[in-house]
Amino acid sequence: MTENISNDPRFNAIEENYKIIRENIEKSASVSGRSAQDIKFMAVTKTVEPKYINHALSLGIDLIGENRVQEFLSKKDELNLDGVKKHLIGHLQSNKVKKIVGEVDMIESVDSVDIAKEIGKQSVKAGLCTDILLEVNIGGEESKTGMDLSLLNDSLYEIAEIDGVKIKGLMAVPPICEDKVKLRSYFEDMYKLYVDFRSKNIDNVSMEILSLGMSSDYTDAIECGSNLVRVGSALFGMRSYR
Ligand SMILES: *Cc1c(COP(=O)(O)O)cnc(C)c1O
Repeated sequence: MTENISNDPRFNAIEENYKIIRENIEKSASVSGRSAQDIKFMAVTKTVEPKYINHALSLGIDLIGENRVQEFLSKKDELNLDGVKKHLIGHLQSNKVKKIVGEVDMIESVDSVDIAKEIGKQSVKAGLCTDILLEVNIGGEESKTGMDLSLLNDSLYEIAEIDGVKIKGLMAVPPICEDKVKLRSYFEDMYKLYVDFRSKNIDNVSMEILSLGMSSDYTDAIECGSNLVRVGSALFGMRSYR
């Protein structure tokens, strides 16, 4: 077993990558006046084989994110998930809700009142309450999932009333942009929304998590106020799909 590990260069790469990421998180956290402990780190495990995920978990990573319900369910029994939290971060279709409720600790990709209602309904049936984030289409892109900014406020109040779900914060995937200033303006807009909702102390809403930042921009996201970064390829190496 140990021999296998040392023979596969990818195990080493994951360790090296994680070290670098931890250092970057530390620096960016301090730029934003926080400590690295204030920032949750998620390993995004889509397309990654269980042996590599388990290696990452052995380094002390305690949060993973998967995009697809089916992929997560088919891999989870091979993962060493003791003490590890699982989040769904990909677009969720209503016919998959029943399968995923109770299997993950949080659904970050809630992008409509209807899907929140379905999650609530299935959660109540299963005798539990599911923590959720509202995904915001912060760039207003036609092709993107996430709630439209114009609907966010009303949707949030409506979802706050649904039994079986609890809003814990906001999540976004901003448009791909080369221009760092523009990119950071999306993160800053998200931070404003987060702080604004937080200050309203809305019943059944506990604004604790601002999930922003991926491999290419997690340092910017942290510097702009993110407290949960979702990192895939910078940890595990390149993937065949996004
Ligand atoms: C794939 C994915 C990530 C991670 O992407 P990387 O660029 O590989 O870090 C983060 N968040 C979401 C929603 C994703 O789909």
